[in-house]
Amino acid sequence: MAIVHVAIGSNRCHGRFGRPAGVVRAAIAALPGVVRVSPIIATDPLGPGTRRYANAVVALEWTGSLPDLLDVLKAMERHFGRRPGQRWGNRVLDLDIIAAGQQVVKTRHLIVPHPELTRRRFVLDPLVAVAPDWRHPMTCAVPQLTARQLRARLLRPKGRPRA
Ligand code: AMP
Repeated sequence: MAIVHVAIGSNRCHGRFGRPAGVVRAAIAALPGVVRVSPIIATDPLGPGTRRYANAVVALEWTGSLPDLLDVLKAMERHFGRRPGQRWGNRVLDLDIIAAGQQVVKTRHLIVPHPELTRRRFVLDPLVAVAPDWRHPMTCAVPQLTARQLRARLLRPKGRPRA
């Protein structure tokens, strides 16, 4: 059994679940094996999207493979009304596998830890809320950096070395 961290995002209303925060709450309720839930935060869009996002991260217990979990997440996105190929812009529901303990996966369809994790505050903020001491298995630092340290590094003004 692995603890897997999944990021949830929405910036569109849903006919039944309402505003993006309601969509995120409904996704949390629908995900299997959820054991920890971050606060739901409001964030500005990246890329060409214009509407603000609701974001959260959950920890869930998963006994299957990570590709199987990705299939479950993609099916949930479709169920919530996301159209295939809608990469940027407005989306009802986006679910990403962020991390799975110390597992590393690199295939054409799945990369874990998620490659954008260390650059995205809207992922690191809620990840720190549920797993501050999780260590990224692929950072060069020894010992490898925790979620809390990755967030501090992202927030540090550029060019200023650590004290
Ligand atoms: P997205 O636009 O975020 O829904 O992601 C589009 C595609 O990224 C998916 O269809 C996946 O095949 C691929 N992908 C690669 N790594 C991940 C990951 N860690 N979590 C979710 N999707 C991933």
